[in-house]
Amino acid sequence: MEHSGTELRDRFGRRISYLRISVTDRCDFRCVYCMAEKMRFIPRKELLSLEELHTIAAAFISLGVRKLRLTGGEPLIRRGVLGLVHQLGQLPGLGELTLTTNGSHLEKYATELHAAGVRRINISLDSLREERFRELTRHGDLQTVLRGVDAAQAVGFERIKLNCVILRERNDDEVLALVAFARDRGLDISFIEAMPLGTIIEHDRNRSFCSSAELRSRIEPRYPLISSTESSGGPARYYRMADSKIRIGFISPHSENFCASCNRVRLLPNGRLLLCLGHEHSVDLRAVVRRHPADPERLREAICAAMALKPERHEFRLDEAPQLLRFMNASGG
Ligand code: SAM
Ligand code: SF4
Repeated sequence: MEHSGTELRDRFGRRISYLRISVTDRCDFRCVYCMAEKMRFIPRKELLSLEELHTIAAAFISLGVRKLRLTGGEPLIRRGVLGLVHQLGQLPGLGELTLTTNGSHLEKYATELHAAGVRRINISLDSLREERFRELTRHGDLQTVLRGVDAAQAVGFERIKLNCVILRERNDDEVLALVAFARDRGLDISFIEAMPLGTIIEHDRNRSFCSSAELRSRIEPRYPLISSTESSGGPARYYRMADSKIRIGFISPHSENFCASCNRVRLLPNGRLLLCLGHEHSVDLRAVVRRHPADPERLREAICAAMALKPERHEFRLDEAPQLLRFMNASGG
């Protein structure tokens, strides 16, 4: 709404300082909670080009956004993405460039990502058992992802965080094993409550739901947790353990609503700027960059005007059919 030149604010006074960019909705995995087996992806001709992605990211930085996260789909399967990462890493005013990946291409790209200025990455890992990992991701190979984790550790990212989605009767018996793995490796770990985005038929989202409180109560007896006020600029609430340097985060869109401190918006692969993961309010930035390719001010105006559409909070309900038919792979979490 406001356009002071250096800062974006919505009508609830929240400062928007974080842009998540979904560079593709395609993925080499089909995680059961994220996608259907057969997906219709955005036609390629509707995707933003890498140049357009860069132009839009630069406009956000000029409006005071400090943190960019590349996500997807799987960001590392977008052709030319490393060139984009290099270019984004050089944007003056950028505070932090991060990436969320399923790890399948990390062994190959970890060194280049680090060289391009990425200092922190999130790697999704929901199981340490090979067969189950394949079931949950439908196509994923655990060993490939673990080699990706090794490569990321060898390169020396400042912070690597594992992201885990826990589903009852699918992988809820691995909570402690995942924490133990993170402790052994010296990696941070976050547990994300599953969100009802898109219709899935394989499991009942309501029955499979595990709250953060439940996960904490399972972790506590083995690894006592100490609540921490730390923040990484995202929605996770962190805990520490007395005998380890890692942090355990809980991202709890259902049970511990964090909308009041929301600082982020999302750019979808087709140029739609999504103001909230839980609503469809959006603005078509692709139309603006294509109509006015040489006029960044028009883009800035459109971004500032979009802030007025940011809803106060999401309304995720597990006991109803999903209100949002968009799957998570479009928006990238
Ligand atoms: N492909 C990359 C990956 O898996 O890390 C990046 C995109 S993925 C959509 C980003 C994160 O969202 C992953 O950690 C994934 O586990 C999580 N995710 C996907 N669908 C979700 C859902 N319905 N609810 C909660 N988290 C979800
Ligand atoms: Fe792909 Fe990530 Fe979705 Fe899994 S969670 S299907 S890896 S986009």
